[in-house]
This record gives sequence, C-alpha cells and structure tokens, in this order.
Amino acid sequence: MVLADLGARLNGALSQFSKSSSVDDAAIDALLKELCSALLESDVNVKLVSQLRARVKAKVSAALKPWDGQVNTSQVKKSLEDAEKAGGREANKKNVVQKAVYDELVALVDPGTEPYKPVKGKVNVIMAVGIQGAGKTTTCTKLAVHYQRRGLRSCLVCADTFRAGAFDQLKQNATKAKIPFYGSYTETDPVAIAALGVEKFRKERFDVIIVDTSGRHKQESELFEEMVAIGAAVKPDMTVMVLDASIGQAAEGQSKAFKESSDFGAIIVTKLDGHAKGGGAISAVAATKTPIIFLGTGEHLNDLEKFAPQPFVSKLLGMGDIQGLMEHMQDMAMANPDRQKDLAKKLEQGKFSIRDWREQLSNIMSMGSLSKIASMIPGMPAGMMEGGEDEAAGKLKRMIFITDAMRQDELDSDGLIFFSFDKEGNPVGLNRRARRVAKGSGTSVREVEELLAQARMMAGMARQAGGQNGWMTAMNKMQ
Ligand code: GDP
Repeated sequence: MVLADLGARLNGALSQFSKSSSVDDAAIDALLKELCSALLESDVNVKLVSQLRARVKAKVSAALKPWDGQVNTSQVKKSLEDAEKAGGREANKKNVVQKAVYDELVALVDPGTEPYKPVKGKVNVIMAVGIQGAGKTTTCTKLAVHYQRRGLRSCLVCADTFRAGAFDQLKQNATKAKIPFYGSYTETDPVAIAALGVEKFRKERFDVIIVDTSGRHKQESELFEEMVAIGAAVKPDMTVMVLDASIGQAAEGQSKAFKESSDFGAIIVTKLDGHAKGGGAISAVAATKTPIIFLGTGEHLNDLEKFAPQPFVSKLLGMGDIQGLMEHMQDMAMANPDRQKDLAKKLEQGKFSIRDWREQLSNIMSMGSLSKIASMIPGMPAGMMEGGEDEAAGKLKRMIFITDAMRQDELDSDGLIFFSFDKEGNPVGLNRRARRVAKGSGTSVREVEELLAQARMMAGMARQAGGQNGWMTAMNKMQ
C-alpha cells in the first residue's frame, strides 16, 4: 500500500487514543504528538504539520464546549446529541476528535480544485511534462491504458527527441499495452513531431491523445521554451506534470518552476511504492492548489492509482475505498469479460449479494498484488498490510471461509438475514446464524460483521449507481 508506514503509524496513534479511558487534554495531546511526528517523518512540511495540529485542537475544543454547558452551533450540538444516542459520553468525544483528525488529514492533501476530465466523443489532448527520470514515459503509457480500459480510445505521441532511446522506450511500452503510437527516428524537431502526431490521431478521432515530451536539455531554459512551443502546437486540453515522490517537499519548488512556463492543470506523483517521503510530495503539491490526479505505485502498467483526497485518507487509515474497489472490479470485468460478464449486469440493476462479494474476493485473490487492492477494502488496516502479500492473502482467505460457512439462501441475500431487528424494523445486532457462521468458519463474530458491512456497502454503491443512470454511465462519470 502507498505510504504503508505512515498509515500504520497514524492508525496506531488513533487506535491507542480510542483505547484511552477518558478524553482529556493529555490524551488529545498524546494523539496529536504521535500524528505530527509521523507526518514529519513522511517529510510533510513543518508549517503544514503545525497548522494541522492547531486546527484539530481548535475544532475539538469548539466541538466539546457544549459538554460544559457553553453555547455552540446547532450543527455541532446535534452531532454530539446523535453521538450520545449511539454510545457513551467519552465515546462521543472520541468520535469528535477522530472526525477532526480525518477532516484535517483530508485538507492536508486536498488542493481544493478540480482537474480536467477527458470525455468520450471529443478529442482530448493531454501533454506530459516533467524532468527526466520522473517516470514520464512510463506514466504516459499507464494513463493510456487507464483511459482505454474505460472505453476511451487512447494513443501516444513521443515528442522527446533529446534523449536517445526515448522513442524506443515509448514504442516498447505502447506495443506491450497494445496502444497505437507515433514518433520518428529521423525528425529532430520535437514540435514538428508533436504537431504531426496529434494531427494524425485527431483525424482518426481518437478520444485521448497523450503527448510525451522531453525532460532534459543542455539548458533548463531551453527545456521550458520547448514545452511552451509544443503546447502552442498541440493545444492540450490538459498539461500534466509528472513528479517523482522521492523529492519529498521539494515537490513544491519543482512544480512552481514548471508552472511558470507550462501552465499545467494536474500532477501525477510517481514512485510512491518505494518512498516513505511521499507524504511530503503529496501535501506540498496540494499546497500549490494543483490537483493530483493519479499516483504511480510501481513499474508495471497497472500500477496507477486514481487519487482523490478523501479515499486516499480513508485507505491510509484502514477505512477502505469502496468506490476505488468498485472501479477496480470494473477494470477486471473489462479485462476478463467471460468470467465477469454477469457482474456488470447485476450492478446495472443495482443488485449485489454476499455471493457476488465472495466472487469478487476470489477474483482479487487471483489477480495478485493483493496488499494494494486489499487496502481498498474497509476493515483492512494499513498495519495489517505491512506483512505484505501473505498477510493480505490470509485475511482475504478468512473472508472466503466465512462465506463458505453460509447457506445458499444466505449467500444470495444482501446480508440483512444475519441481523435481529427491533419492533420498528431497525437492525439491533447480529443473530444466532451469524454467530454460527463465525464458529463454523473458525473466525470471529467481529470478522463476520466486517464482511457483512463490506457486502452491504458494495450493495449500497451498486444500488446508487444502478438506480441512477446505469452502472456504466456512473463509472464513466468517475473518470
Ligand atoms: P522519464 O525519463 O520521466 O520518461 O522516466 P521513465 O518513464 O523512463 O521512468 C524512469 C524509471 O522509473 C524507470 O525505470 C521506470 O520503470 C521507473 N518508474 C516509473 N514510474 C514508477 C513508479 O510509479 N514506481 C516505481 N517503482 N518505478 C517507476
């Protein structure tokens, strides 16, 4: 998982805090101290970290005031009253603190701006810029594969004539991914190549044309001039800067230098698989108010994760990313149409049973790269993924054991069958069958509860997407 160490530390601090018997200043300070030192270790800027600390403290003290009989906004009062109904007084205070931490972590990586989204039925030109070695060529192919999987015809243009072998590299990647490409061994003017390639693919009505540019020149100013000239020739709908995570918070300076010459609209941060400093790069970029659209998480063509602030923080804190998971399943369905053909139909109709969830779990297991995908599943904390593939596989297997202990009618249900209800029809807890399933599968009631919660969340997403305009339309909107 991306930033697994940071995730594990944040998680550890939050779970330590949730175990504390009373929520006093000392407990909150201890939590904040640990959170801040984890963020600093991930190279997040000191100023940003102290800002986060101050804001969490301010939010918490404002929210907890009503307990002392002080006036506060009705919204906060209501949330505390709701929380009180759900649990004890200390538990409510804990919720307030945890929510404030979550919100501020999201704010830390949220640039507050929306990126351009390629749409089908129009030619979308994307130009990639960034210094050599950042992972530009690799990322261009990953992007093309990403859009292609979502039904947008994609292609690549190599406008890097400075580096010997750049065209060969792009050609090799594109061929492997079955993406059409354009480049030249003889033409030395990158502007001419870019213009010719984009014109050719425009005529052929490709949906997404990705232009890879050079990342180095004898003089830095020449590189920037070239980017401006290519930009003027191909008129990109979006310029993306590709940035290596290992530079940490220096990302801010580098992105500013590029921004001054080529006004890019989005950033992709690469190599987050290997760098503990990634937190610094991500927060530094967010501070420049430029949206990060993807994270590069490995050398393989599939190692590209969509980035959005909330799902990112949710995954980091082990809360999962149901939307990301759904998208991943959709990718698998496209890559493996025979095996998954029923899934798209079910999702279209807004249906999703425990059996479907079981099928998805076994597909995930057969896909490899488990720890990455597993982090999208709620209830799979980052700490658990530290053990890597084996641990993730073990956890997924236990989830499958649970479904193996279920009856056919239970598998075909949405999971409510495992709950007891009060007179008004509200679920009040798990019933005897759920406990029997836990026993029969050699797992715990807690694990059964988690699996049911996951299946229900998936069903909820399916209903939402299917109920509106059909699953595919909903997925296309998410690009
Ligand atoms: P360019 O000079 O910017 O075009 O960079 P390349 O695409 O040639 O990438 C430079 C090196 O970084 C290559 O060895 C890539 O395989 C590697 N690379 C690119 N993206 C990632 C990533 O997300 N993770 C890892 N681990 N390696 C990456």
